[in-house]
Amino acid sequence: THFGYETINESEKQSRVAGVFTNVAESYDKMNDLMSLGVHRLWKDYFVSSLNPGATNPIGQPQRVLDVAGGTGDIAFRMLHHSHVLNGNPNIHVTISDINPAMLEVGRQRSLSLAAQQQSSLSFLEANAEKLPSSIPDNSLDLYTVAFGIRNFTDMPAALREAHRVLRPGGVFACLEFSKVDRFPLFNSVYKQWSFSAIPLIGQLVAGDRDSYQYLVESIERFPSQEAFRDMIVGAGFEVAGDGYENLTGGIAAIHRGIKP
Ligand code: SAM
Repeated sequence: THFGYETINESEKQSRVAGVFTNVAESYDKMNDLMSLGVHRLWKDYFVSSLNPGATNPIGQPQRVLDVAGGTGDIAFRMLHHSHVLNGNPNIHVTISDINPAMLEVGRQRSLSLAAQQQSSLSFLEANAEKLPSSIPDNSLDLYTVAFGIRNFTDMPAALREAHRVLRPGGVFACLEFSKVDRFPLFNSVYKQWSFSAIPLIGQLVAGDRDSYQYLVESIERFPSQEAFRDMIVGAGFEVAGDGYENLTGGIAAIHRGIKP
């Protein structure tokens, strides 16, 4: 199967994305390790510690965090650990939202091994990032995170506008996503070889599903450059500091941040 977006309409894209993640939900964590040679763990660690959840302890209501496309909980669990354990601050609430109930179910199962106090700071929400439910009102969140999710969205500008809507003024949008390594030609060609040959093969051998992993590689290829994505974030109404992004591992991944004025 070739997933050329030019030839498919929006609802087809959405159901295709749903199919991909239903197929990969069970093998998702193992596949991440294999495909990234374990590096995704370091990126996620760095992403979360750079956001430093729980650093401040406002009196009264907890720090409100929404982890969009949160899947099996990798980002949310790290945020809970960072706030509760590293900052000694349980005054935080993290909601994992995802469009795919199979991914959320794996996350729910995994969350059972968290400390009880951390579990009580966590909730799950089935939601489309492009149209968040009214249970998340305007101006209601301190931090919105999305890791390795936004490139799968059919309408990224719509998702960015939703992020802007639900964050309070001063609230932070933070995105960790695969990006472009174009500035290092040799490294880029090794990386391309790896993604276009090895990843679909690993998908076939380990998860029995070549097409889904082929789709993931192609979605990375189609995702905008660091600068173009930064401009989309600004276009949604966020302010950015400096370049607005930080490259990880030569640009294989990048962190983008914006603040709602
Ligand atoms: N954030 C997790 C991580 O870093 O391990 C999961 C990333 S996973 C590659 C991408 C997730 O995006 C999947 O769980 C998928 O269901 C979700 N997703 C795709 N389209 C979505 C949408 N429109 N709204 C919300 N979630 C979506």
